[in-house]
Amino acid sequence: MKDEKLSGNQETSNKKKLGSKRNLTLKEFQEGLKTGNTAILARAITLVESTKAEDKILSNQLVSHCLSNSVDSVRIGITGIPGVGKSTFIENLGSRLLDKGERVAVLAVDPSSIQSSGSILGDKTRMPYLAQNKNAFVRPSPTRKALGGVTTKTRETILLCEAAGFNIIFIETVGVGQSETAVYDMVDFFLLLNLPGTGDELQGIKRGIIEMADAIAINKADGDNLKKSHQAQSQLQKTMELYPPKYAFWNTIVGICSATEGKGIDTIWKTIQEFVSLAKSSGFFEEKRKLQREKWLYQTLDEELRLQYFEDNNSSDALESFIKMVRDSQISAGEAAQLLMRK
Ligand code: GDP
Repeated sequence: MKDEKLSGNQETSNKKKLGSKRNLTLKEFQEGLKTGNTAILARAITLVESTKAEDKILSNQLVSHCLSNSVDSVRIGITGIPGVGKSTFIENLGSRLLDKGERVAVLAVDPSSIQSSGSILGDKTRMPYLAQNKNAFVRPSPTRKALGGVTTKTRETILLCEAAGFNIIFIETVGVGQSETAVYDMVDFFLLLNLPGTGDELQGIKRGIIEMADAIAINKADGDNLKKSHQAQSQLQKTMELYPPKYAFWNTIVGICSATEGKGIDTIWKTIQEFVSLAKSSGFFEEKRKLQREKWLYQTLDEELRLQYFEDNNSSDALESFIKMVRDSQISAGEAAQLLMRK
C-alpha cells in the first residue's frame, strides 16, 4: 500500500514537471493569457522569441489572436542615460498606477545586450515593488539580438502583455544607438528623463531624441539639486519654444520630478493622460498605431529575408569569396550583394 501511495505521489510530481516542460497548445496559451497568467505570458514571450520554424507557426497564430483579444492600452517609452533614474521612476509611477487598479508591464530594449550577455535594463531587482505585485509584470531584456542590439520581438511582447490584461506598458531604453528610434516606433508616448545640468541643458542630449520626446522630465529635483532643476526646466522650456510644435495638438512639455521622493510624478502622469486624450480625439493615436504596424511588417519582412538568406547561404563558398573581395576592396558591397542575391 505504502509503495503504491509513493508511486502515486511520484507520478503527480512527474506530471507537474512534465506539465511545466511540455509544449503548450495554442488554446492553452490563449486561455492562459485570457486569465492573466504571468507564467504562461512568460512562456508565450519565449515562444515569440524563438527562431525555430515550428515555434514560429504557433507564435504567429498566437500573436494574431492577441491583436483582437486585448485591453485598451497606453504604451509609454522611457529613455535617458544610465543612472538618470528610469527604473526608480517606473517603480514609483508604476506603484501609483497599481494603486489605481491598473495593470502594469515593464519591458526593456537594451542596446548593451549585443556586447555582453548581461543586461543593464529591466532587471527585476531594480523594481522590487513591481516585481512582487501580481498586477505587474517586469520582463528583463530578451536574449535575442538584432542589428544594433535592438531586440526584434518587443512589439509581439507588447501584444502578449496586452492580451494578458496589462493596460499600461512601459518600455525602457538607454539613450544609445538605434534603440531609441526602435522604441519610439512602438509607443504612444515618449518620455525623456534628464538630469539637472549646469550650463547648456541640451548638451549631451542628441537633437533627434529631443525631437522624439513628447515630454522631458528633469529628474532628481530634490535636495541640493532643486534650485538647479528649476533653472534647467525654464532654460529647456525656452529652448523647446524655438522648435516647431511637435504636433498640431501638442508642444513638448518640460517638467521636473523626484523619483525617489515621488514628487512631480502625478503631474507627469496627468500630462501623459492629457496627451493620450488629445491624441485619441484628433484621430492621431490610432493613425500612429496604424503606421507603427506598417513599420512592423517592413521590419519583420526585412528580418525574415535576412534570416532566410543566411540560413540558406551561411557558409556558402560564394558568400565567403565575396566577403574576401569586399574586405580587400576588389568589389563594392553593393555590387557583391547584388551578385549574391542573383545566385
Ligand atoms: P537608471 O539607470 O536610469 O534606471 O537609474 P536608477 O533608477 O537605477 O537610479 C540611479 C540612481 O539614482 C539610484 O541610486 C537611485 O536611487 C538614484 N535616483 C533615482 N531617482 C532619483 C531622484 O529622483 N533623486 C535622487 N536624489 N536620486 C535618484
